[in-house]
Amino acid sequence: MGNNELPRDLIEAMRSAKCVFVFTGAGASKESGLPTFREIDGEWTRHDPMTFATFEGFISNPVKVWNLYRLRQRQIASAQPNPAHTTIAEMEQYYPEFLLCTQNVDDLHERAGSRKIVKLHGDAWQMRCLDCGKIFDTRDFDLPDEFTEETLPKCPKCGGLCRPNIVWFGEYVPHEAMAAALDMVSRCDLMLIVGTSGEVSGGYGFAQQARANGATVVEINPSEGVLTRYAHFWVPEPAGLALPRIWKSVTDRCRAQ
Ligand SMILES: [Zn+2]
Repeated sequence: MGNNELPRDLIEAMRSAKCVFVFTGAGASKESGLPTFREIDGEWTRHDPMTFATFEGFISNPVKVWNLYRLRQRQIASAQPNPAHTTIAEMEQYYPEFLLCTQNVDDLHERAGSRKIVKLHGDAWQMRCLDCGKIFDTRDFDLPDEFTEETLPKCPKCGGLCRPNIVWFGEYVPHEAMAAALDMVSRCDLMLIVGTSGEVSGGYGFAQQARANGATVVEINPSEGVLTRYAHFWVPEPAGLALPRIWKSVTDRCRAQ
C-alpha cells in the first residue's frame, strides 16, 4: 500500500468511529529497538525461556531470573517511543471512548502519553509479593543492578519474596485487565491491531468477537498473522510508518469538513 493508496473506506471508518479498541504487541516495541523475547541477543538467548519465564523457573533460581529482568529494565529504559506509540496516544485524545490493550510489558506507550491502557501481560517495572500479592514499582526502591540471594527484593509490607509482575507461561492474564479488554471488544466500533501476530493470549478471540459485533477491524502489521483473516483492512507496513500517515489522513479529513 503506497503513499496515495489508503482506502477511503479505511479513513472514513477511523474518522467516524466513537469507541475504539487498540491492541498492540511486540512489533510496536521492536520498532523502538526493543527486541522481542525470541530475538533478544546476548544474555537472554543463552537461557531456555522455561527457566526465566515460568514460575517454576523463578522458584528454582530467583537470582538468575531477577537479574535477567533487571537487564530487561535497562534495555527498556534506553529505548524510546516511536511514532506508532505517539500516534496511539494522540488517538486517545480524539475518541470519546478509547482503550489501549497491550501485550507489551515495557512502558513505551505510557512514555508516549497513553493513559487509558491495560497491560495484559504485566509490567516489567513492577514486582509482586509472593506472600501478600501486593504490587510495587521497582523504581521506588534502591535496588542493585545485580541481585544475590541476600539482596533479592523483599515486600516492604510483609517481608515476602517479590517476583517480577509479569504473566509467565502457564499463568493467567489478570482478571481486571482481561475484563476491561473484553468490555471494549464487545462495545467498540473500531478495533485497531498493531504489531501483533495474535498468537499470544486473547488476541485471537478479541478480533473475532469485535468483528462479529459489527466493529471495523484494522490491522497494521508487516507480516500476515492469525488475526489478519478477521481484518477488514490490512496495512502490511511497520506501524511507525503507517500509523502516523493514516492518522494524518483521518485528521486532515476532519479539518476539511
Ligand atoms: Zn507482602
